[in-house]
Amino acid sequence: MASSGRWFSEGALIFRRMDLAGLFGATQLPEDGEYYPCPSCKTAYSRDEIAELTREDVPPKSQGGKVMLLTCASCNHAAGKYFDAHAARRSVIHNLAMGRDPRREVRAEFDAGGAVIRGYVSHGPQGVIMRGVPDQNSNEQVAAHVRELDQMWDGGSDPVFTVKATEKFVAWRAAVSWVRAAYLASFAALGWSYAFRPELDPVRHQLMNPDSESLPRLALIDLNAPSERRGMLLVKTPEELRSLLVVIGHYSILLPGVTDPLSCQELSDAISQWSRPGSPANATLKGDTVPWPTQPEYAMDEWLLDLLNRGEGSQEPDC
Ligand SMILES: [Zn+2]
Repeated sequence: MASSGRWFSEGALIFRRMDLAGLFGATQLPEDGEYYPCPSCKTAYSRDEIAELTREDVPPKSQGGKVMLLTCASCNHAAGKYFDAHAARRSVIHNLAMGRDPRREVRAEFDAGGAVIRGYVSHGPQGVIMRGVPDQNSNEQVAAHVRELDQMWDGGSDPVFTVKATEKFVAWRAAVSWVRAAYLASFAALGWSYAFRPELDPVRHQLMNPDSESLPRLALIDLNAPSERRGMLLVKTPEELRSLLVVIGHYSILLPGVTDPLSCQELSDAISQWSRPGSPANATLKGDTVPWPTQPEYAMDEWLLDLLNRGEGSQEPDC
């Protein structure tokens, strides 16, 4: 596995070449030295500040991710707190509902006729397992709960027993975690010239302003899809969904594409149309496959620099 130092040097070198070629418009870096901009917040780190950069897992490790690229520690930690923690709790609850991951328990409350005790719920070979936790419940609470259960089974009124998961997550924060993972994977695959496009500004704005709930919906979920699924596709048809499709486990995220890109809002509107049940536009997405990155590949940067070099070469006189 490549070291952080090598990833820093490679990233800094290619960013400098893009910058010198004027591919970012105005100069963004000091004239000399190696600088690696964090793909998430764009802060440029010098080699002396390499300790500020972290090797980040995509998707998050709790979701089966693998180390893929360098981001700055403050972005990595903020994402863990504001977004990834919600994605982790959401997937625990989804797994419970789908009968997956039997070892993982979910905090829950068991309510028998209004007498509530706290405990955990999980999936076992015979079905749902409920487990009360003695030190979270007083003897009186347990006694009242058992009394209510007895009365239910003695058959009086209709028995009402409810299990309520008390692990909380915020759905939009969980969704942002997956969009962020898709964004980081798209950077690793295509490079600076893709990730730093203005069409991706709303993604970075959401990440930099974690309480803003500003990013429109870009992720679709399919709980039946295998969690180890990975893929990237430059979608060409249907044209109204032209985009970069990033597939990670249960999630499909559509990011602005490369050619004539749609804005995040336009893409979000198109997704809503497309995902509506019975929608005539509910067609298969087709386009060019982008290999799933295991480290930063900078494919689009290399392609652009190559094109530029060849452009210069062709201006030389033919002999
Ligand atoms: Zn950062």
